[in-house]
Amino acid sequence: MLQQTPVVRVLPVWHEWLKRWPTPAALAGEPAGEAVRAWGRLGYPRRALRLHAAAAAITQDHSGKVPDTYPELLALPGVGGYTAAAVASFAYGRRETVVDTNIRRVHARLISGTALPAPALTAAEMRLAASLLPADDASSVRWNAAVMELGALVCTARAPKCAACPVNDLCAWRAAGEPPPSYVPKGQAWHGTDRQVRGAVVAVLRQAETPVPPDMFFHEPADLGFAPTGIGVPLAALHRLNSAPEQLERALTGLLADGLAEMHDGGYRLPA
Ligand code: SF4
Repeated sequence: MLQQTPVVRVLPVWHEWLKRWPTPAALAGEPAGEAVRAWGRLGYPRRALRLHAAAAAITQDHSGKVPDTYPELLALPGVGGYTAAAVASFAYGRRETVVDTNIRRVHARLISGTALPAPALTAAEMRLAASLLPADDASSVRWNAAVMELGALVCTARAPKCAACPVNDLCAWRAAGEPPPSYVPKGQAWHGTDRQVRGAVVAVLRQAETPVPPDMFFHEPADLGFAPTGIGVPLAALHRLNSAPEQLERALTGLLADGLAEMHDGGYRLPA
């Protein structure tokens, strides 16, 4: 849930999920569409499908307990190197090299003397991170957490608080005279994108209690006789985007292809 999503947006959804599905088996016991519905407005809803698939794999292959080694975690649906290392380290106290955006930024500035890490994770960065990791399990876990927090709270992307930084006397970037970044990080476009339209379509499906006929996506909700309540609310939000029919088509086709929607009785619904 936290991948590319701020903690404040994740917390309420996370609490709801844990209340509703306290174990992997509880989540795996419900249709995947319920996971997408409960994903709310967190974005990138494929993550909900993968979380559901991971819960199913954990239930089936690991007797319902989240595995505790990096290779087993990495083999779960939707789990990449970062998540596998983070769970093994923070949940199970194992010595694993955790490298997230915050840690990369701290390493870039503190050790390499550059304002920003490379646009994409490099093998050299992984080697550097591994070389810095303390040798014993407990210290390695504290190190991972400490560097991550330093990046999240002090060595922030836009305005690092160097005066308050506990390692400012060791910082290579400061020592080099704070050189500017060598590239401008790309902001993630959202308005008018296919992602935005897909998100609006999924919001309609989440609200719908029965399959949604294709027509509903292409016409003004008021023309279809919908009051601005219930499913009329996300339909109106979708319509306000003024998407071209081809873009709407693309969104619907993409959601079907990704398993985030399915056809039933001639309409679209979340996967059963
Ligand atoms: S001194 Fe500033 S740039 Fe260097 S690690 Fe600390 S916060 Fe980051």
